[in-house]
Amino acid sequence: MTTCDNCGITDSSLYYYWDGDFMEEDYDWRDHFPQVDAMCEICFDIANSEKKINWRCASSQSGT
Ligand SMILES: [Zn+2]
Repeated sequence: MTTCDNCGITDSSLYYYWDGDFMEEDYDWRDHFPQVDAMCEICFDIANSEKKINWRCASSQSGT
């Protein structure tokens, strides 16, 4: 079972995001969360709203 490295929650009903060399993702949170390999959707949403997620597809993000 996956545990969020940010808040420590383990809940199989949550979606977990992964960031690692073994995967190809469009997001990267290492600048703000260098120790985090897995993040639950709650932490991910909060981090994204705080602009702590770097998106590789920057063109899809409108800078309003
Ligand atoms: Zn979390």
